[in-house]
Amino acid sequence: MLNLRDIKSNVSLAPYTTYKIGGKADYFFTARNKTDLIFAIKEAKTRQISIFILGTGANILVGDKGFRGLVIHNKTENIKFDINFLIAESGAVVSDLIDACVEKGLSGLEHFAGIPSSVGGAIRQNLHFLSPDRRSTIFIESVVKEGLVLEKGKEMRVGKEYFRFGYDDSILHHDKDVFVLEITFELEKRDRNLIKNQIEENLKWRNEKQPQLWEFPSCGSVFKKIEGIGAGRLIDKCGLKGKQIGGACVSEKHANYIVNMGKATAENVRDLINIVQKTVLEQTGFKLEPEIDFIGEF
Ligand SMILES: Cc1cc2nc3c(=O)[nH]c(=O)nc-3n(C[C@H](O)[C@H](O)[C@H](O)COP(=O)(O)OP(=O)(O)OC[C@H]3O[C@@H](n4cnc5c(N)ncnc54)[C@H](O)[C@@H]3O)c2cc1C
Repeated sequence: MLNLRDIKSNVSLAPYTTYKIGGKADYFFTARNKTDLIFAIKEAKTRQISIFILGTGANILVGDKGFRGLVIHNKTENIKFDINFLIAESGAVVSDLIDACVEKGLSGLEHFAGIPSSVGGAIRQNLHFLSPDRRSTIFIESVVKEGLVLEKGKEMRVGKEYFRFGYDDSILHHDKDVFVLEITFELEKRDRNLIKNQIEENLKWRNEKQPQLWEFPSCGSVFKKIEGIGAGRLIDKCGLKGKQIGGACVSEKHANYIVNMGKATAENVRDLINIVQKTVLEQTGFKLEPEIDFIGEF
């Protein structure tokens, strides 16, 4: 048995995901500080138990049969400011950082308003959204200065280049023995009202174009962007909006979202993903690739 305080077993993961889907984890541990997080990772490795680090659960589909191993719920949420630098633990929630930045009049993170994410998840996926003029994409890497990571059991302070950021990509996709512990963001002083306006504009845009979590649980866009074409547009072109399997449905509002209509299973979502991929490939020749992580057993 794992030597972790307050460890739980057979915990349903669905409530910890924005999809509200997924079976049980064999073991579930909540890390509330860096020491606990590092200890839990090392403890599982020593005992050769699989680990999954859970942030806000916004980019994952957990299988109906759950996860064989230890889920570490990362609730290391400390943040501190040093002039224009923000140092945040990896479990801190991006929307909380944005609120704190508004208070301080610090700009850079407001572009990601309305996106559910922990700092660790944001680094893994290089969180991104449209620029204020909606003509280009802003990535979180643009405000990352450095980080503290656990690589092969060792704590290392690393510069931004270490993360090898790309579109929906970073070193975390390629090296399973790297965990984010803390990130330092470099921000700029800006009028608080201008930051607030940007947040409001982004939230309005998102509300108009994308299904909201309070309407339908989802994991955001399912498929990776296809440069200059758009995965959502291809799916729409194939007439797949509204296509439903069980409780999973291609959103009418945004075709790259597969929403949970209430009782969707992971199997429903997976089957629908397969149908969308097959149809788009047959009708347009484009191969859609999921950007979300499939976790556990299906
Ligand atoms: C409604 C909605 C809208 C969205 N809109 C956008 C958008 O506009 N732009 C965008 O980029 N994304 C968007 N997303 C996707 C999602 O918000 C991001 O991918 C987010 O960064 C996921 O963070 P998370 O904490 O929820 O990660 P999780 O889903 O909890 O985990 C995702 C992966 O990251 C790994 N991970 C998490 N923390 C760590 C860590 N500390 N160290 C190592 N690995 C770690 C996990 O193990 C897992 O493999 C949206 C999602 C939803 C539900």
